[in-house]
Amino acid sequence: MRMLRILIVEDERAISDLVRINLTKAGYECVCVYDGMTAADILEQNKFDLIILDVMLPGLDGFELMEYIRPMAVPVIFLTAKASLADRLKGLTSGAEDYIVKPFETAELLARIGIVLRRYNKESEKLGYNNIEADVEKRSVTYDGTETELTPKEFDLLVLFIRNRGITLFREKIYEEVWGMEFRADSRTLDLHIQRLRKKLGLENSLKTVFKVGYRLE
Ligand code: CA
Repeated sequence: MRMLRILIVEDERAISDLVRINLTKAGYECVCVYDGMTAADILEQNKFDLIILDVMLPGLDGFELMEYIRPMAVPVIFLTAKASLADRLKGLTSGAEDYIVKPFETAELLARIGIVLRRYNKESEKLGYNNIEADVEKRSVTYDGTETELTPKEFDLLVLFIRNRGITLFREKIYEEVWGMEFRADSRTLDLHIQRLRKKLGLENSLKTVFKVGYRLE
């Protein structure tokens, strides 16, 4: 499984190091930057699952950087020494997911990170395609608003196709992704699953067979 990546924007080295060491131990991949401009630069080039953002930073401060980050739809937890209510409200209304006041316990930070990531993934893991909605977290599907039963493999196939809509997926690739094994040319398993999926979700016209190659969701 891919490691979750966290960007730590904090100019106080001691705090930055402490956060990085503990998050790394907890299994997150961390990148540290020490000012707002560098954070903006690195965010342009890299994808992160979460940002820990100090409010008081040299140059661009945390709230200003937040304005820049917001359209990226990456969850942010503000970190600050300022415990005033006004700052807390400002932090949350500017789009941050949470707010933590220094000094803080590592356990509290980890707990909040966990909550934000779970909440955020739940919200973002609903995939839609026309009148089909797939909830990746619950592994449930509705078709025209009605709950529809799919087998686990059919569900995995559906998610794969929705995430790659408009792209022709090679049979080998589909097999590897969904069954986790090498494709056998004589196998009819994939074709059977595709037929079932089409029938259950009315995808006869949109889940196309690409002759001798694979399948594509239009
Ligand atoms: Ca600071």
